[in-house]
Amino acid sequence: MPDAETGLVVLVGDPVEHSLSPQIHNAAFQAQGLNLTYLACRVSPARLAAAIDGLGALGGVGANVTIPHKQAVLELATSASPSARAIGAANTLVRTSDGWRADNTDPAGFLAPLDSYAESLRGELAILIGAGGAARAVAWACTEHLGARVIVAARRVGQARKLAETLGTEAMTVADAQRFARDAALVINATPVGMAPHASLTPWTFPTGLRPSQIAYDLVYRPAQTRFLQEAEAAGATCIGGLPMLIGQAAASYRQWTGREMPLDVVRDIVSRQPDA
Ligand code: NAP
Repeated sequence: MPDAETGLVVLVGDPVEHSLSPQIHNAAFQAQGLNLTYLACRVSPARLAAAIDGLGALGGVGANVTIPHKQAVLELATSASPSARAIGAANTLVRTSDGWRADNTDPAGFLAPLDSYAESLRGELAILIGAGGAARAVAWACTEHLGARVIVAARRVGQARKLAETLGTEAMTVADAQRFARDAALVINATPVGMAPHASLTPWTFPTGLRPSQIAYDLVYRPAQTRFLQEAEAAGATCIGGLPMLIGQAAASYRQWTGREMPLDVVRDIVSRQPDA
């Protein structure tokens, strides 16, 4: 039960209704007996600065930040981690003695389920479908941490070029990138295509006869088994869904607010009980 000592963590975004973050973090706080509570707050772009100031005035411990504020929030932070600065977007704020420190935990979340494959991906081709906010964090993780060669593939090639230029990678349309489908060691869906309620769609066509060393990674986590992953599995590739990334990025934020490791078994159980998960 919250009391006068309860520390506040919020999610700031628009929309926020679909978010699993309140369930994830509140379950973890409770499991570890931490007197913290996590609320999701719908905030318009015009009210972002007031909301972040207000959280500071209320003694808030931290925040997650989601669409459409991930870039704008960097301007409101007094410091930023190297990943947030390089990506140009943040999803986490942590209270410090002189204001908010911004971080981006999406790369850590993205890399978590790739841990055992990291060595085999070095120097290999990664095709990244999508050029939005999540793609930006994933492209950075692929080049900086995996040492992969990245093709950013988007339906609007201009958007793909913009992302590719800042990271020194290649850019093309999704249709053109299909030519490299057989060569890619990693194909990542960083678009919402395939997400419920449009679960019958996929942004990619996998050729038959892929090897288990070839990985299909879908950032979409609702449903857990997308058409993109079903077709990759049928073609012979190894599949990774979006839930481990969701939990991984949450765990990296949690560590910064609490100084503790998130109880992953508790969180996996909560997430597995959500509809479509
Ligand atoms: P975003 O900033 O809105 O970017 C979406 C990207 O997908 C844009 O490049 C967009 O292109 C493209 N796209 C949208 N509809 C498309 C279509 N029908 N065909 C081809 N491309 C299309 O969104 P985001 O924040 O990057 O998120 C992308 C997805 O990743 C979402 O499903 C989100 O839930 C998921 N995600 C998961 C995690 C996780 O932890 N698992 C973390 C972050 C994001 P246009 O600009 O042309 O529309």
